[in-house]
Amino acid sequence: MKFSDSVTAIKGVGESRAEGFRSLGVSTVGELLRFYPRTYEDWSRVTGFANCVTGENACVRATVLYPVNNERVRGGMLIARTAVSDGESVAQVVFFNNKYIPSMLKSGEEYLFYGKVTLGRMGEREMISPLFIKPSQSVEIRPIYHQNKKINSRAVQSAVSFALENVGEIKDYLPDSIIKRYSLISLDEAIRAIHFPKNSEQLQQARDRLVFDELFILQLSLLTLKSENAAAATNNIVTDDCSARFAASLPFELTGAQKRAVSEAVADMKSGRQMNRLLQGDVGSGKTAVAASLVYTAAKNKMQSAVMAPTELLAVQHYDTFSKLFENSGIRCALLTGSTKASDKKRIKEQLKNGEIDFVAGTHALIQDDVKFRRLGLVITDEQHRFGVKQRTGLCRKGDNPHVYVMSATPIPRTLALILFGDLSVSVLDELPPGRQKTKTYAIGSAQRGAMFDFIRRSLDSGYQAYIVCPLVEDSESAGGLQSAQEYYKKASAAFSGYRLGLLHGKMTAAQKDEIMAKFKAGEIQLLVATVVIEVGVDVPNAVVMAVENAERFGLSQLHQLRGRVGRGSVQSACILVSDAKGEEAAARMRIMCSTADGFKIADEDLKLRGPGDFFGTRQHGLPRLRIADFITDTNMIMKTQKLAAEIIKSDRRFEKEENRKIGVQVYRKIRSLQVVNTANTI
Ligand code: ADP
Ligand code: MG
Repeated sequence: MKFSDSVTAIKGVGESRAEGFRSLGVSTVGELLRFYPRTYEDWSRVTGFANCVTGENACVRATVLYPVNNERVRGGMLIARTAVSDGESVAQVVFFNNKYIPSMLKSGEEYLFYGKVTLGRMGEREMISPLFIKPSQSVEIRPIYHQNKKINSRAVQSAVSFALENVGEIKDYLPDSIIKRYSLISLDEAIRAIHFPKNSEQLQQARDRLVFDELFILQLSLLTLKSENAAAATNNIVTDDCSARFAASLPFELTGAQKRAVSEAVADMKSGRQMNRLLQGDVGSGKTAVAASLVYTAAKNKMQSAVMAPTELLAVQHYDTFSKLFENSGIRCALLTGSTKASDKKRIKEQLKNGEIDFVAGTHALIQDDVKFRRLGLVITDEQHRFGVKQRTGLCRKGDNPHVYVMSATPIPRTLALILFGDLSVSVLDELPPGRQKTKTYAIGSAQRGAMFDFIRRSLDSGYQAYIVCPLVEDSESAGGLQSAQEYYKKASAAFSGYRLGLLHGKMTAAQKDEIMAKFKAGEIQLLVATVVIEVGVDVPNAVVMAVENAERFGLSQLHQLRGRVGRGSVQSACILVSDAKGEEAAARMRIMCSTADGFKIADEDLKLRGPGDFFGTRQHGLPRLRIADFITDTNMIMKTQKLAAEIIKSDRRFEKEENRKIGVQVYRKIRSLQVVNTANTI
């Protein structure tokens, strides 16, 4: 039997089962062997009823006390019932709609029962529909597979068993050197044991080997793609590096990390190949100055640049910041958003087409069909994961292989950055501008809100500004005690009479939001009550207090972003998290926020608490699907294999060495299957 044989070559697999297999994604014998169990029944740890934890699976050896009573109840349901004893305690066992139970369970005989032990109505122990076997059958750990109407887990199991008996030895593609170095078991042993482990130790070894393989091949594939992508040629070439001149015009000295990031990107832009680079920097690390430096350099090399932001508010802010940085530089700037006046839009589009504008900041409005550039050489997107792929590629098509620079303010755990952005180069701003004071973070209950108001008043009295963030815009029936910005604004207006308050939320029009934000920036508003619309990127250095109501409603990364809105000047700032939530997860989040300011560490914790789907806030988080490895729990393995993959790419990028040839075959196969997913990561 060969790996490429259809599953119908397996005894017992006819057309119907083959169809069932197909909808599980399995058509060949090879795919079947890689169809790993979803979980396992552990029959190896036999215990007594007295030791069972209610609601958890357990395996108990027990004797049937009397013949099974099979009874049809009203409604037609068939209920089979008996009692079993483990020698010390008794439990009821109950089955529904199975007329064969009386012939399968014999009174006076001993069986192993596997299932959840629960408490019945009278407090008696019960096992509902447990699995059972004769103790003589020496099964210790049993595989449980995904199943469907056409094929159940048992049938999958027997098909796998048949296949394993008939495929012969499964050949390894890892060289002995790697197997030894990482103390792995052979592929043959691993695949056999992942389906039918003899004990939990062997299962662990099998899993280790297969997780290693999956992550190793994945990372090799991504690195290979990256080295191939780097070859895209472009005519957008920087010949004159003007970044030092720009740096000299800044009111501050760039940090070492900023300088490094600029020179990495400029080197890309000089290379004659398209830049594909991600800038990762914690909030306040100064990504804007880096981006501006590149825009300046592009403009001085006769290329136009576009910055696309996810919200109107941020587009406007980018426009303002960049324009200010470009004062007296001769760089012509424009802003193009949905709410730009029609007549202005027309003029700006004309000027972009004629090359009379060097730099445009904007929102999605930039990707409309009638926006054309004379020579778009640099595309910068801010807060990358908020954009769909289509929008980014849309902007790139307006140029001829423009350089792409992606700025992400959400620190992504280091282990995942390479997998998510495996085909991008990454620059990291791991240093904050000097003179910053660490923001102090406090977690309080709502009973202390009065004291918090006093604290905020004192800050306002000293000439500073503050934010209070609420989870909702307006009160609604489903709110369940959550604070809404609108109601809160009313209450706060009374509590802060004599102060200048503002309200900002997502249901306001862009013009209204801009007006409020402008007033806050100008200091006309002292206290801003807002929703998370202010979360990303807003920069008002005079704001020194960030209070968050119902803090339990926000994810860690979001809280970190909010906290990043303060502490942007040289003054000691404070972040106050208000929450009455009792849950363990909420408590864990507050603890982490109070104990660290490191965005990468927070991202790690956030990922652990919420999982990748929620962490990235969207289902299309771009992480490839894994068969067996887990992005959260297998971080050690991710790092190990990352290192090894990098070593191999460095020494034998085309897998030409004898020992790497078979690895190469796996890698190219993987790349083919990744291409679909990978467009999500490629710009
Ligand atoms: P972020 O990375 O969050 O986008 P910004 O680019 O908004 O950060 O920068 C945060 C603040 O730090 C801004 O007010 C900016 O002017 C200031 N800043 C940036 N770089 C430096 C530096 N090297 N020295 C001092 N201040 C800086
Ligand atoms: Mg920013």
